[in-house]
Amino acid sequence: MDYKDLANVIYPDVKPIEYYEEKYRVRELPQGAEVTRFAPSPTGFVHIGGLYQCIIDRALAKQTGGVFILRIEDTDQKRKIENGVEQIINALAKFDFIPDEGMISEKEEKGEYGPYKQSERKDIYHSYAKYLIEQGKAYPCFATPEEIEEIRKKQEAAGLRTGFYGVWAKYRNLPVDEAINRIKNGESFVIRLRSNGREDRKIKVKDSVRGHIEFPENDQDAVLIKADGLPVYHFAHVVDDHLMKTTIVVRGEEWISSTPLHVELFNAFGFKVPKYAQVPNILKEEDGKKRKISKRKDPEAAVDYYHEEGIPSDAVCEYLMNIINSSFEGWRRANPDKDISEFKLELSKMGVSGAVFDMVKLLDVSKNVIAKYSAKEVYDFVNAWAKEYDKELFEMLKDEEYALKVFGIERENSKKPRKDLAKWSDVKNSIIYMYERPKEYDFDKIPLTDAKKVIEEYLNIYDYNDDKQVWFNKIKDVAEKLGYAREVKEYKQNPEKWPGHVGDISTVIRVALTGRRNTPDMYEIMQVLGKEEVENRLRKIM
Ligand code: GLU
Repeated sequence: MDYKDLANVIYPDVKPIEYYEEKYRVRELPQGAEVTRFAPSPTGFVHIGGLYQCIIDRALAKQTGGVFILRIEDTDQKRKIENGVEQIINALAKFDFIPDEGMISEKEEKGEYGPYKQSERKDIYHSYAKYLIEQGKAYPCFATPEEIEEIRKKQEAAGLRTGFYGVWAKYRNLPVDEAINRIKNGESFVIRLRSNGREDRKIKVKDSVRGHIEFPENDQDAVLIKADGLPVYHFAHVVDDHLMKTTIVVRGEEWISSTPLHVELFNAFGFKVPKYAQVPNILKEEDGKKRKISKRKDPEAAVDYYHEEGIPSDAVCEYLMNIINSSFEGWRRANPDKDISEFKLELSKMGVSGAVFDMVKLLDVSKNVIAKYSAKEVYDFVNAWAKEYDKELFEMLKDEEYALKVFGIERENSKKPRKDLAKWSDVKNSIIYMYERPKEYDFDKIPLTDAKKVIEEYLNIYDYNDDKQVWFNKIKDVAEKLGYAREVKEYKQNPEKWPGHVGDISTVIRVALTGRRNTPDMYEIMQVLGKEEVENRLRKIM
């Protein structure tokens, strides 16, 4: 009896790996093309750190003429939720992340390197595990939970590293006959790597973000296939990324410490090791301390949060790109109108310590992004957002023609488009006065009787058809007539000479029209409100 017999007893009916090696051919792609993949578990939840990885995956694939894959890692049955895949796909689609290959709905996929859901790749994993067993590079381990516990206790008592390695790997040298007997008797087992590594030897692994990292070799007989027949992450990673021809594995930095094991596995098969880009976590600062942004504690850890708040996807991606590459900010300043996909991302320019998530900065980026949208784009985004999250606003926007005029204020034809909107959930408050008359007025230092005089004078000369120049001159005329300074400059030279200046007069008109002291351009507002509405609003305070 030899390893081949053992392998046949464990996996009697699987195809040889040559079948798969033949089936999944080298991809025909331009030289230097990167094949990347985003590989979440189907928890239905996309973490901001996942989106961050996706941005890198997609950018690398796009800028090299490569492929971006969505693979679902569902071997941990406990983490699965109903429609978890669909939810991930939808969350990504909101950010315009449409994978070139991989899962496209709960059950459907596209591409020739699938299945793209790990639970459907069981046969493939078994073939590759069988191959390692045949080669003597993997073996069945029958350790019971009690035995594992006992080994751990002994190691701890002796102050040693825990785990299955060297003499502690209890079933590593079990004679093949005995192993076969145990299997035939129905004993439960896992498949472990028979590691060749030595802790006192070093290996260097290249990480595209951090450069070379030196590690002790892996010497653990790590579990590859669990007792339920499903692979652990390490094994699935190696098999899948080999067969899918991934050229660069973009993943979280929590995997760095496992790379020696992964390298050993690639080598055990004689496969080429892909490049690794193990990206830093996104952190949150709290009470002066930095910690990993957390799904449990921080609502902004979930990408759905941005959608619910109405922060445009473009803004979130721009902001994350800022964190990913420090050179992005300068590029954006030099190329304000280019699409983000034209920016060339370089992993070597990525920070290695985790970036602190800064909501203020994100909202700032968002204001700039929204400032570049046309009125129609703003309308479409707000309308879609309101439909889902704010019925009242949705109703308000029913008159599209009027809404377009409202969103057009200080926008398309303006040299300096307004930058007061950071998220769609701000919109209602920022435009409500274009839909509702003010309920109260605060003229601040100007007594109501004076305010009424201003309005009375203004109503006498207001003409909807005036151009902006004439319109402004008329406000100055009112100022002069009521004894206010016609020009602000004039007032500043001699403040005691006047009760106020033209700015105070326009504030009175602004407050009477909108109930607010600060608004975008008042001329434009009045043009949009229309003659009748302007006159009605002004008359109301008389
Ligand atoms: N399913 C793994 C995770 O969510 C994927 C890691 C990887 O990209 O290889 O962390």
